[in-house]
Amino acid sequence: MGEKVRPYLFYDTAISICSTCYRRAEGKIIFEDGRVYLLKRCPVHGSQRVLMADDVEYYRLCREVFVKTPEMPQVYNMPVRWNCPYDCGLCTDHEQHSCLTLVEITDHCNLECPICYASSSPSRKGCRSLEHVTRMLDAVVRNEGRPDVVQISGGEPTLHPDFFKILDLAKQRPIQHLMVNTNGIRIAREDGFAERLAEYMPGFEVYLQFDSFEASVHHEMRGADLRSIRSQAIEKLNRLGVSTSLVVTLKKGANDGEIGKIIDWALEQPCVRGVVLQPVQAAGRHQQFNPAVDRLTLTEVRRRVRANERVQARGRDSSAVPSGFSGDGICAEAEWKSDSANRDD
Ligand code: SF4
Ligand SMILES: [Zn+2]
Repeated sequence: MGEKVRPYLFYDTAISICSTCYRRAEGKIIFEDGRVYLLKRCPVHGSQRVLMADDVEYYRLCREVFVKTPEMPQVYNMPVRWNCPYDCGLCTDHEQHSCLTLVEITDHCNLECPICYASSSPSRKGCRSLEHVTRMLDAVVRNEGRPDVVQISGGEPTLHPDFFKILDLAKQRPIQHLMVNTNGIRIAREDGFAERLAEYMPGFEVYLQFDSFEASVHHEMRGADLRSIRSQAIEKLNRLGVSTSLVVTLKKGANDGEIGKIIDWALEQPCVRGVVLQPVQAAGRHQQFNPAVDRLTLTEVRRRVRANERVQARGRDSSAVPSGFSGDGICAEAEWKSDSANRDD
């Protein structure tokens, strides 16, 4: 061994993007003090250090064991010309088909969440036209044949003036599972709205924002106390039997201590088929945190899920979505689903 050594183990090289300007940035993945970091360098904005995982052993399992043969789309839309990420759309180097496609139909929203990475708000009025959305849906179907999951998203998609026409358009296509990504305000407040959504069952699901039982957390993350909105929306969805996923945006020090409680509560709700745990992304209006320290990593989320007694009692383990080169570097996600996962279809 040479006299001088680095204070870490080098594991791999990586391709990433600068978190400021989104230029392609070369990087390396290192293990240091039991954690996994991505070190990347932008020619303009300099070096950046991002905490990727706080459990080296599980991270290596994700990279080396939970692997599978890449699944291809039926059609690629781009040749490789400028290299990742500039050819995206999908280019022929992509190693994964679109297992979940987001179709963003508006930038408009009735909230102005401090954590919104899309910077949506009431003042942003942009909506895609019906013709535009039709082209987007057709592109997804052309690429995938029978798309696994299409999520109608935004902004707040339920505010689009042609929202139900768009759901009709999606339903007319061979999409296996259609989701609406929503903050639940229209479901909670508007008579008959949940009933109309229920008409799209089966093969339909509400992907409902659900962050916390605490008012202070709602104010910090959403800029408003939405607890009564959540409970009114869930009450209607339970009554109508509309398949629902609770989508929890997790922020370290805010609601990461509530994971077990949310799972316990979800298990009591007849309409809930799963809980999706999404650590917050530092982008848009939410950039005031240090990615080397403040990121809540999926390895930490996984440990907290496994700490829940009812999850333990079911004898379930979690496994990562297989990692791969998917245009944005390495992705690995832990997910927990309830026993009712196949309730509606
Ligand atoms: S509800 Fe969603 S789209 Fe609207 S501001 Fe909040 S995070 Fe953004
Ligand atoms: Zn940069």
